[in-house]
Amino acid sequence: MPFAVEAGLGELSRLNKMVSSEFGAAVRLCKVFTDLPMACDKPIDCGIVEFCKRCKKCAEACPSGALSFDDEPSFKTRGPWNNPGHKAWFEDSYECYEFWQQVGGGGCGVCLASCPFTKAAGGWLHATVESTVSMTPVADHFFRIMDDALGYGKQPGDIEQWWTKTRPA
Ligand code: SF4
Ligand code: SF4
Repeated sequence: MPFAVEAGLGELSRLNKMVSSEFGAAVRLCKVFTDLPMACDKPIDCGIVEFCKRCKKCAEACPSGALSFDDEPSFKTRGPWNNPGHKAWFEDSYECYEFWQQVGGGGCGVCLASCPFTKAAGGWLHATVESTVSMTPVADHFFRIMDDALGYGKQPGDIEQWWTKTRPA
Protein backbone atom coordinates (compact mmCIF):
# COMPACT_ATOMS: atom_id res chain seq x y z
CA MET A 1 0.00 0.00 0.00
CA PRO A 2 2.67 2.59 0.93
CA PHE A 3 4.54 1.91 -2.33
CA ALA A 4 1.37 2.45 -4.35
CA VAL A 5 0.53 5.69 -2.54
CA GLU A 6 4.12 6.92 -2.89
CA ALA A 7 4.00 6.05 -6.59
CA GLY A 8 0.86 8.17 -7.06
CA LEU A 9 -1.50 5.36 -8.04
CA GLY A 10 -4.09 6.73 -5.62
CA GLU A 11 -4.52 8.05 -2.09
CA LEU A 12 -4.76 6.43 1.35
CA SER A 13 -8.51 6.51 2.00
CA ARG A 14 -10.83 6.05 4.98
CA LEU A 15 -10.62 2.33 4.22
CA ASN A 16 -6.95 2.54 5.22
CA LYS A 17 -6.45 1.17 1.74
CA MET A 18 -5.43 2.89 -1.43
CA VAL A 19 -8.29 4.22 -3.53
CA SER A 20 -7.51 5.01 -7.13
CA SER A 21 -9.36 7.83 -8.86
CA GLU A 22 -9.79 5.50 -11.84
CA PHE A 23 -10.81 2.20 -10.23
CA GLY A 24 -11.69 3.17 -6.67
CA ALA A 25 -11.02 0.47 -4.11
CA ALA A 26 -11.32 -2.32 -6.69
CA VAL A 27 -7.61 -2.75 -7.23
CA ARG A 28 -5.24 -5.60 -6.42
CA LEU A 29 -1.71 -4.33 -5.90
CA CYS A 30 1.47 -6.25 -6.63
CA LYS A 31 5.17 -5.38 -6.82
CA VAL A 32 7.84 -5.98 -9.44
CA PHE A 33 11.49 -5.69 -8.37
CA THR A 34 13.84 -4.44 -11.05
CA ASP A 35 17.17 -2.63 -11.44
CA LEU A 36 15.89 -0.97 -14.62
CA PRO A 37 16.72 2.76 -14.43
CA MET A 38 13.36 4.50 -14.19
CA ALA A 39 12.09 7.94 -13.20
CA CYS A 40 10.43 8.00 -9.77
CA ASP A 41 6.75 8.89 -9.54
CA LYS A 42 5.40 11.09 -6.76
CA PRO A 43 2.38 10.94 -4.46
CA ILE A 44 -0.68 12.68 -5.88
CA ASP A 45 -3.54 14.74 -4.48
CA CYS A 46 -6.57 13.90 -6.59
CA GLY A 47 -9.07 14.88 -3.89
CA ILE A 48 -9.80 11.43 -2.45
CA VAL A 49 -8.68 12.14 1.14
CA GLU A 50 -10.72 15.36 1.13
CA PHE A 51 -13.71 13.44 -0.27
CA CYS A 52 -13.32 10.78 2.47
CA LYS A 53 -13.57 13.43 5.20
CA ARG A 54 -17.18 14.11 4.21
CA CYS A 55 -18.28 10.83 2.63
CA LYS A 56 -17.99 8.08 5.32
CA LYS A 57 -20.08 5.74 3.17
CA CYS A 58 -17.77 2.76 3.71
CA ALA A 59 -17.85 3.22 7.50
CA GLU A 60 -21.67 3.32 7.43
CA ALA A 61 -21.81 0.22 5.21
CA CYS A 62 -19.36 -1.88 7.27
CA PRO A 63 -21.39 -4.55 9.10
CA SER A 64 -18.80 -4.96 11.86
CA GLY A 65 -18.17 -1.29 12.64
CA ALA A 66 -14.50 -1.77 11.86
CA LEU A 67 -13.98 1.49 9.97
CA SER A 68 -13.36 4.92 11.43
CA PHE A 69 -15.99 7.68 11.51
CA ASP A 70 -13.41 10.30 12.54
CA ASP A 71 -13.56 13.48 10.47
CA GLU A 72 -9.79 13.62 10.06
CA PRO A 73 -7.09 10.96 9.73
CA SER A 74 -4.79 10.77 12.76
CA PHE A 75 -1.78 8.97 14.23
CA LYS A 76 -4.10 7.11 16.64
CA THR A 77 -3.91 3.37 15.93
CA ARG A 78 -6.69 0.92 16.86
CA GLY A 79 -4.52 -2.06 17.80
CA PRO A 80 -1.22 -3.88 17.28
CA TRP A 81 -2.27 -4.88 13.76
CA ASN A 82 -1.98 -1.24 12.61
CA ASN A 83 1.38 -0.02 11.37
CA PRO A 84 2.04 3.21 13.33
CA GLY A 85 4.00 6.31 12.40
CA HIS A 86 1.79 7.82 9.75
CA LYS A 87 -1.57 9.55 9.59
CA ALA A 88 -4.49 7.35 8.54
CA TRP A 89 -8.03 6.32 9.29
CA PHE A 90 -6.98 3.18 11.14
CA GLU A 91 -9.38 0.24 11.07
CA ASP A 92 -10.25 -2.38 13.68
CA SER A 93 -8.96 -5.43 11.82
CA TYR A 94 -10.04 -7.70 14.67
CA GLU A 95 -13.73 -6.78 14.19
CA CYS A 96 -13.33 -7.05 10.41
CA TYR A 97 -11.75 -10.50 10.57
CA GLU A 98 -14.31 -11.77 13.08
CA PHE A 99 -17.02 -10.83 10.59
CA TRP A 100 -15.13 -12.60 7.81
CA GLN A 101 -15.15 -15.74 9.91
CA GLN A 102 -18.89 -15.42 10.48
CA VAL A 103 -19.75 -15.09 6.79
CA GLY A 104 -17.13 -17.60 5.59
CA GLY A 105 -16.17 -18.02 1.94
CA GLY A 106 -14.10 -15.20 0.54
CA GLY A 107 -14.86 -12.78 3.37
CA CYS A 108 -16.73 -9.51 3.08
CA GLY A 109 -15.66 -6.56 0.92
CA VAL A 110 -18.85 -4.51 1.43
CA CYS A 111 -16.72 -1.44 2.16
CA LEU A 112 -14.87 -1.77 -1.15
CA ALA A 113 -18.10 -2.09 -3.12
CA SER A 114 -19.79 0.82 -1.35
CA CYS A 115 -17.10 3.37 -2.22
CA PRO A 116 -18.36 5.98 -4.72
CA PHE A 117 -15.06 5.67 -6.58
CA THR A 118 -15.52 1.92 -7.13
CA LYS A 119 -17.48 2.31 -10.33
CA ALA A 120 -17.09 0.99 -13.81
CA ALA A 121 -14.77 3.39 -15.61
CA GLY A 122 -16.80 5.57 -17.96
CA GLY A 123 -19.81 6.15 -15.69
CA TRP A 124 -20.93 9.77 -15.83
CA LEU A 125 -20.76 10.28 -12.09
CA HIS A 126 -17.29 8.80 -11.96
CA ALA A 127 -16.03 11.05 -14.72
CA THR A 128 -17.60 14.13 -13.14
CA VAL A 129 -16.26 13.34 -9.69
CA GLU A 130 -12.82 12.59 -11.04
CA SER A 131 -12.56 15.95 -12.74
CA THR A 132 -14.12 17.92 -9.88
CA VAL A 133 -13.13 16.56 -6.46
CA SER A 134 -9.55 17.73 -6.59
CA MET A 135 -10.67 21.24 -7.54
CA THR A 136 -13.83 21.80 -5.49
CA PRO A 137 -14.03 19.85 -2.21
CA VAL A 138 -17.24 21.73 -1.39
CA ALA A 139 -19.00 19.56 -4.03
CA ASP A 140 -17.99 16.32 -2.29
CA HIS A 141 -21.11 16.09 -0.12
CA PHE A 142 -23.28 16.51 -3.22
CA PHE A 143 -21.49 13.64 -4.99
CA ARG A 144 -21.94 11.41 -1.94
CA ILE A 145 -25.70 12.15 -1.99
CA MET A 146 -25.85 11.47 -5.73
CA ASP A 147 -24.01 8.20 -5.24
CA ASP A 148 -26.64 7.11 -2.69
CA ALA A 149 -29.47 8.24 -4.96
CA LEU A 150 -28.14 6.14 -7.83
CA GLY A 151 -27.95 3.10 -5.57
CA TYR A 152 -24.25 2.41 -5.96
CA GLY A 153 -22.83 -0.08 -3.48
CA LYS A 154 -26.22 -1.56 -2.54
CA GLN A 155 -26.34 -5.31 -2.25
CA PRO A 156 -28.94 -6.93 -4.54
CA GLY A 157 -32.12 -7.97 -2.74
CA ASP A 158 -32.28 -11.31 -4.52
CA ILE A 159 -28.84 -12.88 -4.20
CA GLU A 160 -29.85 -15.76 -6.53
CA GLN A 161 -30.05 -13.33 -9.46
CA TRP A 162 -26.25 -12.99 -9.30
CA TRP A 163 -25.90 -16.45 -10.89
CA THR A 164 -27.95 -15.48 -13.94
CA LYS A 165 -26.37 -12.07 -14.52
CA THR A 166 -24.83 -11.38 -17.88
CA ARG A 167 -21.23 -10.31 -17.94
CA PRO A 168 -20.74 -6.55 -18.48
CA ALA A 169 -19.22 -5.61 -21.84
S1 SF4 B 1 -14.30 -6.10 4.71
FE1 SF4 B 1 -16.40 -5.98 5.59
S2 SF4 B 1 -16.13 -6.13 7.80
FE2 SF4 B 1 -14.11 -5.65 6.93
S3 SF4 B 1 -13.95 -3.42 7.01
FE3 SF4 B 1 -14.79 -3.92 5.00
S4 SF4 B 1 -17.05 -3.85 5.26
FE4 SF4 B 1 -16.12 -3.95 7.31
S1 SF4 C 1 -16.62 5.18 0.67
FE1 SF4 C 1 -16.23 7.38 0.86
S2 SF4 C 1 -15.11 7.58 2.80
FE2 SF4 C 1 -14.96 5.44 2.18
S3 SF4 C 1 -13.05 5.26 1.00
FE3 SF4 C 1 -14.69 5.64 -0.48
S4 SF4 C 1 -14.72 7.87 -0.75
FE4 SF4 C 1 -13.56 7.45 1.14
